[in-house]
Amino acid sequence: MLPRKLDVQGIGMTSQRTRNRLVERLRDKGIRNEAVLQVMSKTPRHLLVDEALASRAYEDTALPIGHGQTISQPYIVARMTALLLEGEQPPRKVLEVGTGSGYQAAILSPLVEQVFTVERIEPLYRATRALLHALGYRNIHTYLSDGSWGLAREAPFDAIIATAAPEAVPPALLEQLAIGGKLIIPVGKQGGAQMLQVITRDALEIYTTIEHEAVQFVPMIKENQSRNTNLL
Ligand code: SAM
Repeated sequence: MLPRKLDVQGIGMTSQRTRNRLVERLRDKGIRNEAVLQVMSKTPRHLLVDEALASRAYEDTALPIGHGQTISQPYIVARMTALLLEGEQPPRKVLEVGTGSGYQAAILSPLVEQVFTVERIEPLYRATRALLHALGYRNIHTYLSDGSWGLAREAPFDAIIATAAPEAVPPALLEQLAIGGKLIIPVGKQGGAQMLQVITRDALEIYTTIEHEAVQFVPMIKENQSRNTNLL
């Protein structure tokens, strides 16, 4: 059975024009990656938020998704996805920490081979897993666990993208990068300056960090390790 909001709204009912306007706004803000813009123009963000917020889904803003969490702002999703795709060898196997609404995972889905995504809040994990499945995303694999420990059983990853901000980069995420892989992560204290970092791992296991712009994300919550054995 389809989740209720899919039944009620239907994908086709939201105007393509609103999504196109969003894409134009992203272009104006400096997003140049055409593949990313193309996916943004097709992804039904209105189905990934509460029905009451569906009319605001194509505003370039974060929106509440319950449990004190948010669906990320389209601009930052586009920006981080473009950073992830940069380089000669586009990533095939990607880990996302912080599934939330599933929007970032849905944007990655057509651009890479496999998306593994981890969420720590069980009701969010269950709802998003069902919705992504109903929407036909077959290369997105959802997990309930503390993503600050990465996802060891599926590692290594060509890229890891964190959509929640730790105060310091979790070592497990660095360890689970493939050689040549990259981690895209906002780092910093809540309420303070968080910086978007891209960290690459080379063949000699040297990590190079490039700091990009200041961003604002919800915190990455670190639980104790025993919780992480509770993978679903
Ligand atoms: N990618 C999401 C989207 O597109 O909607 C962003 C959601 S929100 C900004 C960040 C998410 O990270 C929240 O759902 C939160 O519960 C989750 N989160 C925070 N700490 C986490 C952790 N240690 N492991 C897994 N998920 C975590």
